[in-house]
Amino acid sequence: MIRRNILLNPGPATTTDTVKMAQVVPDICPREKEFVSVMREVEEGLLRIVHADPEEYAAVLFCGSGTINMDICLNSLLPAHKKILIINNGAYSSRGADICEYYGLPYINLKFPLNSRPDLPLIEKTLQENPDIALVYTTHHETGTGLMNPLREIGALVHRYQGVFAVDTTSTYAMRPIHMEKDEIDFCMASAQKGIMAMTGLSFIIGRKSMIEASAEYPKRSYYCNLYMQYAYAKAHGEMHFTPPVQVIYAVRQALLEYFEEGEAGKWARHCRVYQAIRTGLSAMGFRIYIPEELESGLVAAALYPDDEHWDFEKIHDYCYEKGFTIYPGKVENLGMFRLCALGAIDEKDIREFFSVFQEALQHCGVAVPVQYNDRIS
Ligand SMILES: *Cc1c(COP(=O)(O)O)cnc(C)c1O
Repeated sequence: MIRRNILLNPGPATTTDTVKMAQVVPDICPREKEFVSVMREVEEGLLRIVHADPEEYAAVLFCGSGTINMDICLNSLLPAHKKILIINNGAYSSRGADICEYYGLPYINLKFPLNSRPDLPLIEKTLQENPDIALVYTTHHETGTGLMNPLREIGALVHRYQGVFAVDTTSTYAMRPIHMEKDEIDFCMASAQKGIMAMTGLSFIIGRKSMIEASAEYPKRSYYCNLYMQYAYAKAHGEMHFTPPVQVIYAVRQALLEYFEEGEAGKWARHCRVYQAIRTGLSAMGFRIYIPEELESGLVAAALYPDDEHWDFEKIHDYCYEKGFTIYPGKVENLGMFRLCALGAIDEKDIREFFSVFQEALQHCGVAVPVQYNDRIS
């Protein structure tokens, strides 16, 4: 009935028909008790995914795309006269630095190469030399390249220096197993259209209640995007402060049921299968992956454009799109790349079908397969 598109872009992801259809509900005012109980169910599920004890942690919901979470954490969790440390090895952490810039927040932008792990001793040295750092922010998985960051190790350092650790987990949450305590996370975040495989419009931050409560005293830098305000309102009324994305929340409830049915381990195993099929397909065609294998997330493969005069990403994209497969460009300046992501409700078979279309697309454009690289890039 509904055409099934295979989205290999980094979110929104392919959804099941049952999640799509869950949005079709009788009209309801979100202030009704019936809707409040749907919200409660969703909050509980979101906490359970990251093994967060509801006594210690809260899930705070917002209407917006994933970037709203980054904005909220950075502007809400900084005490007066303190500083933020951004551990930056990718486009999403750079966005975090941009947010600090826009709010005029004092921050240190600790930059590392985009294709390697951040240097832990340098992070420790920075924390040691700047006792006014109160909030440390990084990205779990840099979706632009497919690089994974070592959260536990960074988190342990942050906590050794009494910092608050906020992590953008938008492209790992509900895919790779995450455990708030064991992974040393105080705040994590995601939005409904990625790992939980629902629709765009709902984003959420999971964080330590004691830290959110402490932030009531911090300078207020935004009205709509303030963490404590939204938390306190939900605690008192069980609802979002302003109009929630009603139908998306019904889709999220259904997506959570399907998440727990598949299970944390089962879902991660499926993502791994899909990723393996992507990697196998790419290497069979001779493509090179930007990130060294041992640092890959297992969710996003960023392949370098081959050195072939007939390579035309737009043309290849359009060919695949016509057949129901969406591929996505890279996100690193001056380096031609495209990305294939293992996010949504897809499996190995979809990837095998994709590669037969992708082969056709390259043939159609006259690109030689296996693809070639001049050895100046490696
Ligand atoms: C998708 C994503 C976001 C949010 O992007 P939006 O376009 O605002 O939804 C943030 N961080 C990471 C790591 C992401 O992958």
